Amino acid sequence: MKSEQFIYFFSSFLLIFSCKNSTENIQPNNLFSADEEKITRIIDKMSIEEKVGQTCQITLASILYKDEEGKLIEPHQIDTNKLKIAIEDYNVGSFLNVSNHTFTLVKWHKVINTIQEFSTRTNHKIPVIYGVDAIHGATYIQNSTLFPQEIGLAATWDLNHAKKMAEVSAYETRASGIPWNFSPVLDIGRNPIWSRFFETLGEDVYLASEMGKSIIDGYQGSTIIDDYHVAACLKHYVGYSVPKSGRDRTPALIPERTMQELHLPVFRKAIDEGALTIMVNSGEVNGIPGHANKYLLTDILKDEWGFQGLAISDWEDFLNLHKVAQTDSTVKDAIATAINAGVDMSMVPNNPEYKKYCEFLVELINEGRVSRERIDDAVRRILRVKSQLGLLENYTTVDLDDYPKFASNQHRKYAYDAASESITLLENRNKILPISKDKSILLIGPTANSLNCLNGAWTHTWQGLDNKYNNDFPTIKDALESYYPNLDFFEGSKMIMQDGDEKDIQSDDFKKAIIKAKSHDVAIVCLGELPSTERPGDIYTLDLPKEQELIVQELSKQGIPIVLVLVQGRPKIIREIERLSDGVLLAYLPGDQGGNAIADIISGKINPSGKLPYTYPKYNGVIMHYDYKQSETINANIWENDFYNPQWNFGYGLSYTNFEYSNLNIDKKILEGNEELNVTVDVKNSGITKGKEVIQLYVRDHYASISPSLKKLKRFAKIELNPNEKSTIKFVLNRDDLKFYGIENNWMVEEGRFSVIIEDLKKEFNYKN
Ligand code: BGC
Repeated sequence: MKSEQFIYFFSSFLLIFSCKNSTENIQPNNLFSADEEKITRIIDKMSIEEKVGQTCQITLASILYKDEEGKLIEPHQIDTNKLKIAIEDYNVGSFLNVSNHTFTLVKWHKVINTIQEFSTRTNHKIPVIYGVDAIHGATYIQNSTLFPQEIGLAATWDLNHAKKMAEVSAYETRASGIPWNFSPVLDIGRNPIWSRFFETLGEDVYLASEMGKSIIDGYQGSTIIDDYHVAACLKHYVGYSVPKSGRDRTPALIPERTMQELHLPVFRKAIDEGALTIMVNSGEVNGIPGHANKYLLTDILKDEWGFQGLAISDWEDFLNLHKVAQTDSTVKDAIATAINAGVDMSMVPNNPEYKKYCEFLVELINEGRVSRERIDDAVRRILRVKSQLGLLENYTTVDLDDYPKFASNQHRKYAYDAASESITLLENRNKILPISKDKSILLIGPTANSLNCLNGAWTHTWQGLDNKYNNDFPTIKDALESYYPNLDFFEGSKMIMQDGDEKDIQSDDFKKAIIKAKSHDVAIVCLGELPSTERPGDIYTLDLPKEQELIVQELSKQGIPIVLVLVQGRPKIIREIERLSDGVLLAYLPGDQGGNAIADIISGKINPSGKLPYTYPKYNGVIMHYDYKQSETINANIWENDFYNPQWNFGYGLSYTNFEYSNLNIDKKILEGNEELNVTVDVKNSGITKGKEVIQLYVRDHYASISPSLKKLKRFAKIELNPNEKSTIKFVLNRDDLKFYGIENNWMVEEGRFSVIIEDLKKEFNYKN
């Protein structure tokens, strides 16, 4: 039996899903095994300048050759004079990224080796730590394996896919000589218009925590990180994802209870899992910039949770305390604020700014405005991470021959499996899907023939728009063409970038396509958005461009059945065109294997099993989440509870087969103290196709002193069943699952009535302290 089959067998038949979900009383993380004495010896011998240099991270671009206008010269080459100044004069301890380029492995080796050669000539011979954004695969290495973006991973509801994505990304990143990955994003996806929604693991704290934990396991492997794993970096601590305006890096308002219940637990779980590094929120929460928030960075993260790794700033954010947040009247003050708040490394990241940073910080230490203890603590944390990555012990360069699985078929297969299990079937009227091979297809839409759209941002370049480094994988059109002999393709509309925004234009072939509709059996309409992230991804509305909607409206007038394929990082409002369509497939941003995965679902080779990791809104103005409260739903016009009216619910997703739920049982009517509650439910595949189902267990607290949600996700499990096969799934709940952050600002459980909810089955029990 191959290992993957074994895992499957295991999850289908053992079917016991129990885990602690506590956010209190967890032991501080002591998963670090660095040689503290050795680190102390190094720190004792370091000058202030050398210590400051360790806290400084610069971009590769800052040491490359530039022309007279300041543009990088192609091909990018290291200017060894600049490198010498950075490492020998300023003692720079870290580098990041690459400027809008994707390098070959060989080029990466050259870059890293050149930098490390200089670092080993310094006093203490401490290698630099190179970090990169390998967000859904080793994005900046040519030919690497690209997985679905995190929102798609979350839609698989399968922790194995999250772990595999991380393992493969770590392996392929490490093959380039880079040991540090600025991933995963653990921000909760509750504001769908935010440009980085697709980088999140969705809206739910439990789903995101479980997925996040698996990603850390995959990136780091174990405590001592070997040559096939990388240090993870949790982003962006904390509250970054819910800007009030919806625009990136703008202020968020987060009440303490929401912070404790929704935003902090995901990070806490990842820290307890041994995550080595964390990146700070570029925005501000309740008026306090992330980089100035001593309470969150030092009191909670380091003191309360026992985090021993390093906290790195986000891009230029020391400077930004002065320039953007305006909480410090000089750059020098801003540096003092951030370091004293608990940030250990500054992503400065440019030249000459980094020089000023180093000079100011030396001055601040000499003036006593940053204590020697604080700088030593920051350096200790940085050296700890370097030690954990093996950088302090006989640093050797990477040998490509040690990475035979780079871009292998096996890695591609993992990415394909994740993509095909993420895609979510949201509508299937008259069983329009799957579509048999003999049908004639009209394929149309701006995302039908674009590998860039399938991948999204952080793909070969920051915004993912450039196609010159694309791998040779089929688009949706290519993949469908190889399956359906009778297929006509039209663009219908195109998306272009104009003045930094996406502009949609009707294509020349639009009218012809509509005329042709009558001669085809089905129209497959691929809609969505151009790749983008961070500030360039700020948009004004979740509405789909009218040019895209028009394709569906006009086709519908021709009477042709329509299947929508949505290739998008955030939920676009499709209320008006959904009712004109028979099928809807949500692909998220499925990566390089997305074309094949979508075609295999359309043709029926794969039975879809993705489930929404967020509540899909129906109206721009009603953004609600599945764990809403009774008090949020009342429509006073008609006095009905009808304000929760999403297009589709969190956790929703159809299959080509049917699953029947029965016999929900709990083993106690009264749960006392720390007792466990055993829950069982039978699930049967009552259709004629083998399929996978996600069993979701929710808990409702009926009455509580803080008005309760109507349900909260507490457990889930993904299983596969043959036609007519039935399984009994067992979950174990405990007191931790009933907790909330109470009036006195502490975690508590109140006695009273609770319900366990699975599908439309419910069982009640009482809790007694
Ligand atoms: C982003 C981070 C990223 C960093 C380095 C920042 O602008 O917010 O997520 O890791 O750049 O590329």
